[in-house]
Amino acid sequence: MHDFHYEGRDLWCEEVPIRDIADQMGTPLYIYSHRTLRNHFRVFDDAFSRIPHMTCFSVKSNSNIAILRIFIREGGGADIVSGGELYRALQAGADPQKVVYSGVGKKVEEIEDALASNILMFNVESFQELEVINACAARMKQKAGIALRVNPDVDPETHPYISTGLKENKFGVNVEKSLETYLKATKLKFLDIKGISCHIGSQLTKTSPFIDALDRLKKLYGRLQDAGLNIRYLDLGGGLGITYNDETPPHPSEYADAIIRASREISCTFIFEPGRVIVGNAGILVAKVLYTKANEDKNFIIVDAGMNDLLRPSLYKSYHHIQEVRKTQRKEIVAYVVGPICESGDYLAKERSLPRFERDDLMAVMSAGAYGFTMASNYNSRPRAAEVLVAGDKWHIIRKREEYGDLIRGEKIPNMIERK
Ligand SMILES: *Cc1c(COP(=O)(O)O)cnc(C)c1O
Repeated sequence: MHDFHYEGRDLWCEEVPIRDIADQMGTPLYIYSHRTLRNHFRVFDDAFSRIPHMTCFSVKSNSNIAILRIFIREGGGADIVSGGELYRALQAGADPQKVVYSGVGKKVEEIEDALASNILMFNVESFQELEVINACAARMKQKAGIALRVNPDVDPETHPYISTGLKENKFGVNVEKSLETYLKATKLKFLDIKGISCHIGSQLTKTSPFIDALDRLKKLYGRLQDAGLNIRYLDLGGGLGITYNDETPPHPSEYADAIIRASREISCTFIFEPGRVIVGNAGILVAKVLYTKANEDKNFIIVDAGMNDLLRPSLYKSYHHIQEVRKTQRKEIVAYVVGPICESGDYLAKERSLPRFERDDLMAVMSAGAYGFTMASNYNSRPRAAEVLVAGDKWHIIRKREEYGDLIRGEKIPNMIERK
């Protein structure tokens, strides 16, 4: 469910016509619905209200500090994967004791910053990383909360680039060998071993892989209890999918019921790290048609948003629904929607039946709230898009459009190549 809908011919977000915002802000433009964001968070979080739990929003899916603040106000925490994301979470007002730090390549400086901020725990991906965190904590005369990220070797049945819980992936510690790693970790005096974590992939459309992973974590939990470790947190990661096209992912309540049913014998606080399921359908990318043309037997619609604004189609061949911002009665054609970037992989839709868009028409690229702006780049020296948050009949700029000056910020021409 989301709050983008037609009123007459015009696409609205909540109580504001998209056209009005685009006229004032220009394009390309990200627009998010506050109501959708808040509702999605509540639906997810409430689904687990029967068990002790923490919903740590995955900052990498959408890291705008205004959006993070919405979830923090709802009692949410943050799942971070870098020092930059820690900075964002803290700027947004996150409680450090609700911050978990995931990721396979944490640098010493990033670990130190996280320790200084007193985060809840690190989800650690190797024994070497445990040793590094232990050494940082020792220098800082404190204890570091940790969970081992285990790799349960289950197939999430999603795109290979977003599968993370298969044994051939770079993530985590093999679940079979993890007991040994935990036991070695007990010798590291500056670690507080708090939990077990896993994250098996993204855009999952079934509950069974989550339950298979949980079953393997439960076995490990039992063994760790037997070994006398005090495991207080079970972090099941994120990954619940959404409908982009015709997928039928489980509703968060179905996902929650399955997890709650499968975890009766466990007395821990559960941590969830949802990203896409909260923000994916809560945002759109608005683009303007620059040109239309036909080459050979293909119709091209060239728009002012490209792979630098929304990388997912180019990176994962992913589908985003495309709608008119003002509905027309025009006949449908099969078209390619492409951006201005100098790459053949720069496209938003391929072989899609679409109304015959014309120059200057506005186009809405739906379900762009997750891994949209956060993956945006300045490739082709394109300033990054503006972001707007709609709430009821009001809208707010939550990130202004970049200017040319932003493109060269930090760059410097050394004296040796001074202008002649
Ligand atoms: C990306 C990621 C998430 C969020 O995944 P979604 O599919 O967006 O829910 C959660 N945890 C970790 C460790 C991740 O890398």
